[in-house]
Amino acid sequence: MATFSLPSFLVLEFTSMTGHHDIVHLMSRWCSSLLSELNSYPRYRIVSFGDATPPCLTPTSIKWLPKFSYQIAEIILNVLKISPNDDQSSIGLQIRDSIVTNLASNTFFLQNSDFKFEYFKNLYSLLVSTSMSIEKQHLAKLIFMLHLSKSDIDDRDEWSNLLQLFDSINFEELKEFEFADIIHGLFKQLKVNESITNLIEESVKEITAQNLLGFQLEEFLKNKLSLNLFNCEIVGLRGFAGIDSIYVNSVDLSSFFDKLSKPSIHRDTALGILKLEFIRIYIHEVTHVVVRKCLNDLNVSTPTIESKAKNINEAGVNSEEKLFGKRISWLSSVNYKFFNVKYCLEFLDDLLKGEKVEFDLDKSKCVENTNRIFSMAIDYEKPSFAQLEI
Ligand SMILES: [Zn+2]
Repeated sequence: MATFSLPSFLVLEFTSMTGHHDIVHLMSRWCSSLLSELNSYPRYRIVSFGDATPPCLTPTSIKWLPKFSYQIAEIILNVLKISPNDDQSSIGLQIRDSIVTNLASNTFFLQNSDFKFEYFKNLYSLLVSTSMSIEKQHLAKLIFMLHLSKSDIDDRDEWSNLLQLFDSINFEELKEFEFADIIHGLFKQLKVNESITNLIEESVKEITAQNLLGFQLEEFLKNKLSLNLFNCEIVGLRGFAGIDSIYVNSVDLSSFFDKLSKPSIHRDTALGILKLEFIRIYIHEVTHVVVRKCLNDLNVSTPTIESKAKNINEAGVNSEEKLFGKRISWLSSVNYKFFNVKYCLEFLDDLLKGEKVEFDLDKSKCVENTNRIFSMAIDYEKPSFAQLEI
């Protein structure tokens, strides 16, 4: 049973699409056990086939496999639980499986069966290249895809865009990121900031409806939580939650800073706003990380828990609101003529000094971010024209 750990549904589609040698090879391995074992495999259950009779899947039929035209009409999938405490290679394998099961049970794909499977090419390559070992860059892509596979994005272009561009996630050009030291320094400060830690703890308890997290949050943040700055071509991607880590898009932070750099704004002021934006991302993503650690499941979805707990739409936003009163758009705020930048920078100073502070939203005249969120542990917003022009 263990040999059949792959996304049959995806493999079948890919085979019909590409007919690539490797895929045929993989097909022969997986498909020989497909028909006999799939029905008893707990993760998949074939209910019916699109074509009347599925062809006999033996290695000898490999030569015509590329011509596969039938599709699995209906698959019932069980959502898998992934423990963040397992070892990395085992987590990696579980993530691979979960991405496919999540995608296959995602409402968008259930309702749009004509979605072009060529858009899954990059994902397929990732699944193939991570079947043996998983390095840092692959793990980042897998985790991103794990979150994305559960999102409630309902737009075709959005899906095809993200499914293609996630492959650009990399750690290679980081030397060009001029704020790396500032951001790493700030990250260290935030990890030991008592107010922020307490706020995250309180927020996670609300979200999970639990009285105890089951581990020492202070200790975890201080000694385990790490920051992965990455590059990526996805415009509007701020970051996402990892395993005992958060991923933050350095390209997005740089472009955020560029948009602030107007002659009317002093560089120090712009740096202060950049820090506030990073703090927002930090509490947002760390909340997702801690929720997953607390529930011992990387594959958890906040909307599913939320139905049990309070009226919480999004775990990360719940924490943002605890600190700032609302989900704030710092870019829009800076462009708002009544924005109280002085107050916000004083707040930042006090917060980083470790003082107990309470953000006064009215006084700050900050602008709320009302853009749509996509129910996933990824901080991503489709950039609007207005934002692009700022
Ligand atoms: Zn989120």
